[in-house]
Amino acid sequence: MKQFKLYSRREFIKKNSVIGMGAVLATGAVQPLIALGSNGVQAPAILGGTAAWNVTKWPKWPIWDPETDEKLVLEVLRSGVWSRSKMVTQFEKEWANAVGAKRSLAVVNGTNALVVATNQLGIHGGDEVLVPPYTFISTVSSILSNGAMPVFVDIDPETFQMDPAKIEAKITNRTKAIMVVHILGLPSDLVSIMEIAKKHNLIVIEDACQAHLAEVNNQKVGTFGHAGCFSFQNSKNLPIGEGGAIVSNDEKFMDRCYSYHNLGTPHGTAIGSVSDGSIMQSTKVRMTEYQAAIGIAQLKRLDSETTTRNLNAEYLKSQIKDIPGILPYRVYESVTRGAFHLFAFRYHKEHFKGLSRDQFLNALSAEGLPCSSGYTPLNTQPFLHETFKSANYQKMYPKSALDINQYNENNKCPLNDKLCNEEAVWFTQNVLLGTRDDMKSIANAIEKIAKNAEQIKKLNP
Ligand SMILES: *Cc1c(COP(=O)(O)O)cnc(C)c1O
Repeated sequence: MKQFKLYSRREFIKKNSVIGMGAVLATGAVQPLIALGSNGVQAPAILGGTAAWNVTKWPKWPIWDPETDEKLVLEVLRSGVWSRSKMVTQFEKEWANAVGAKRSLAVVNGTNALVVATNQLGIHGGDEVLVPPYTFISTVSSILSNGAMPVFVDIDPETFQMDPAKIEAKITNRTKAIMVVHILGLPSDLVSIMEIAKKHNLIVIEDACQAHLAEVNNQKVGTFGHAGCFSFQNSKNLPIGEGGAIVSNDEKFMDRCYSYHNLGTPHGTAIGSVSDGSIMQSTKVRMTEYQAAIGIAQLKRLDSETTTRNLNAEYLKSQIKDIPGILPYRVYESVTRGAFHLFAFRYHKEHFKGLSRDQFLNALSAEGLPCSSGYTPLNTQPFLHETFKSANYQKMYPKSALDINQYNENNKCPLNDKLCNEEAVWFTQNVLLGTRDDMKSIANAIEKIAKNAEQIKKLNP
């Protein structure tokens, strides 16, 4: 993921003094610069105009209010009970409640929520798992950690999500599960995907690590599949620093997840006789009490923040959707609420006089907007070949299944490649916690760049 550095206006002018001087010299004075752009649009900051917004004005992330948030955390710290106990159980209850699931299990992070859920759904060596390429590495690594084989299903560039129309062509007699990712915090087409899964008797794991409180037909994502996995990493909509959770309505499965995450000790219906000790091969990925206390504090603001993100995203989308070359995300009709971990659109340079996406992002950064180009394609990264070369994979799979050239050929995702390499533009979720004026400033920044694309293109080849 390529981050574009944000500059304060002063830093920016200093850094670009040569460019700035060029622009000043070209027009002969500083003053007219403000009205440099055509059609009454102000000059872009990258050409010496005033930045659309000040970097320092965006809502800070994570949000923390000592007044309301610290009491519980301090209680935990002073109690000396830091390993998993009442506070984690409390957080699990509240999280299950928030998403409308029977049970929730807190773990160390979203990555391990996926690893544990995949493991306890019995997905192992020889199994194929359908997964979109437009996601964070952990989605795919959780499949590999369990010895299974990721099979990539290309995305629908309009929605950024796994394209349900491309799933069935990828199903073989080894396919065991679909790992659906609600990327950007926007729900995938769960209606279609659940139907396909049912038809082919496939397990569904929802990677909802970006999709806290998002909904399809008024039901929270994470509760459609056999398991839903969440992340509470610091950038996520419910930030704890690190943390994760599995949710499910299947009590026996959740008992097994508990046992697996806690050294294989018996739990609930996952029992052995007392003298048996650990009942399964296991790991230890328990959440701590102070993490849970932070989570409980953060959960109190999640719903209202989610509403704000939805309102601002909708407004921002309405303000930029008619700018030629800017194609905001589309949501499926069944979606009743987004989580908007990211605000994304596709950029088509043909409408910006051929201005490259990098140049566009640089110009946006100069306007004071935190933006990035998002993910790079996952399905061709070196970790796959490395895993295939490992002793475990060499023993589990026939040679033909581990031929990386053949694998790459079978897992081509051209639409995702285009999205990653040329089109996607992201704003992070904290931007959507700003005001309507902030949203207007974003639209204004994009418009300024659109109107002056030709000149910006000349700045750096
Ligand atoms: C963040 C994220 C994860 C992993 O969660 P961590 O808590 O960072 O381990 C998995 N999948 C997706 C889509 C994510 O965004």
